[in-house]
Amino acid sequence: MKLDSMDGWERSDLSSDLSVDDIGKQVVLMGWVLRRRDHGGVIFVDLRDREGLVQVVFNPEFNEKAHEKAHVLRAEWVIAVSGEVFRRPADSENPDLPTGQIEVFVRHIKILNASEAPPFPLDDPCPPSDAVRYKYRYLDLRKLAGPRQNLLFRNKLNNTIREFLNSESFVDIETPFLTTSTPEGARDYLVPSRISPGSFYALPQSPQIFKQLLMVAGFERYYQIVRCFRDEDLRADRQPEFTQLDMETSFLEEERLFNIVERMMSLIFDRLMGLELRIPFDRLPFVEAIGRYGLDKPDVRFGLELVEISDILQDSQFAVFRTPLESGGIVKAIRVNNGDRLSRKDLDDLREFAAIYGGKGIAYARIKEGLEWQSPIAKFLAAEERSRIVERTGASVGDVILFAADSHKIVNDVLGNLRNFLAEKLNEIPNNTYKFIWITEFPMFEYDYEEKRFQAMHHPFTSPIMSDLELFTTDPGKIRARAYDLVLNGSEIGGGSMRIYRSDIQKMVFSALGIDDDQAEEKFGFLLDALKYGAPPHGGIAFGIDRMAAILTGSESIRDVIAFPKTQKAVCPLTGAPGEVAATQLKELGIKIIGRK
Ligand code: ASP
Repeated sequence: MKLDSMDGWERSDLSSDLSVDDIGKQVVLMGWVLRRRDHGGVIFVDLRDREGLVQVVFNPEFNEKAHEKAHVLRAEWVIAVSGEVFRRPADSENPDLPTGQIEVFVRHIKILNASEAPPFPLDDPCPPSDAVRYKYRYLDLRKLAGPRQNLLFRNKLNNTIREFLNSESFVDIETPFLTTSTPEGARDYLVPSRISPGSFYALPQSPQIFKQLLMVAGFERYYQIVRCFRDEDLRADRQPEFTQLDMETSFLEEERLFNIVERMMSLIFDRLMGLELRIPFDRLPFVEAIGRYGLDKPDVRFGLELVEISDILQDSQFAVFRTPLESGGIVKAIRVNNGDRLSRKDLDDLREFAAIYGGKGIAYARIKEGLEWQSPIAKFLAAEERSRIVERTGASVGDVILFAADSHKIVNDVLGNLRNFLAEKLNEIPNNTYKFIWITEFPMFEYDYEEKRFQAMHHPFTSPIMSDLELFTTDPGKIRARAYDLVLNGSEIGGGSMRIYRSDIQKMVFSALGIDDDQAEEKFGFLLDALKYGAPPHGGIAFGIDRMAAILTGSESIRDVIAFPKTQKAVCPLTGAPGEVAATQLKELGIKIIGRK
């Protein structure tokens, strides 16, 4: 079949421009055939363009030639039509479609391109398998609903961020991708150098070092919406390359930076969600977050807080509770009101839930008339212990109390996650509510039991809280950092810190991390050098844009807000990357493949 060319035709309107106000207007439309229906001599086509759908009508009485030509049209053919806007007959209006009151009678049609039958119908609300969707992502994205809307949302999100930060005198500066290892602690993606065979660049896990150098360079306020690369095992909310809004400021302390971020979030919510945020957001020190919620990214949209009851059980006869306490652990409880909402089976199943987080089980008690306990463990606890637990948890008749006893880490992990699980199960999460919270004063170091040494909890350029400096020699595990996360509805959407800007303190931190002078010099010598030349006090934050966009669009996976995502195996189903390369390329790079997994 001979295809037409554009021949100087210009589109007059997008589908979204058309309404009953345009009746009688002559228009030129261009787009794709979503469906063609032949109704006894009149052909109807749903024409899709970037904004929506409009019904175009090929009626032989209006134009015979156009009608004749329309017979060959199939799904996803690309056409241009010129014609006139009509009001639809009342019985064929479509209230679900923004253009449902009108249709366009076609006078001329150009068939600009044909299409093979698509591998999945684009008008089917059920998506095909992920493998097929991602292989044909350009068709998946052509659908008006779904990921396409997310990308449009994301575009607005980026624009709003830029507009706000530009108005606050932030400067957008690009930093290198071909660089050396950055300090986030994940595995690097490496890029071999042809010019220096045997040497490798590392793709940045974040622009961390460069943004600090830009502060030393005196820019004072930097931002970048930038791709970062981390070679980690992938979970649903991770991608090997992801986008951060990266920011750094000089001469500001936490509160001023938080305020900038809060105002930015307010603008985003106002513009994109039509919601007013209350600022300032709450702040919660890490220790308190763990204490009350078990997790450092608490979802504060609901209660179900954790209550520590270790002191009550210190001398208990009940070994399941007492033994962990003797070895430095804790016992905590969660009170659930209207305990009838949890069946016997639900409660029994919690053992398996606990196991996911390394716990041995979850004990429970139903509180009955007279505050009596109906519980397999009731008989092991003294009456006084039981009544103090009821009092501490605030339990009343009909409630269920859930218990975990183990090391700090396991109890908090088990109950923190159980809290989220129960909230979901018991419908305790209010719809359409967005709650931000700053988690502050993170520990500086985390002890790595396998490697038997401290690791930086954030990264090694994070400033300690100065009043904790003396703990460097006595108890480094207790040093608090000037590090903070911003948590939204139980997801960490951003994190950052005030940085070390003095080389003497940077050296102290390196030595606490077991990085000696030579190693520090070799890895980060250029940053240490820069700190010698008048580095201003500075600090910043980075936000995961993919995750933020996923939460705001209500998407389950960050893949739904990424144009061309990778699978769990870090493969791009569309391009086939990663792929093999030619032997000559390997030779140039001085690389020999010695085996494949
Ligand atoms: N570079 C850090 C990160 O990617 C964020 C920051 O400290 O600003 O987690």
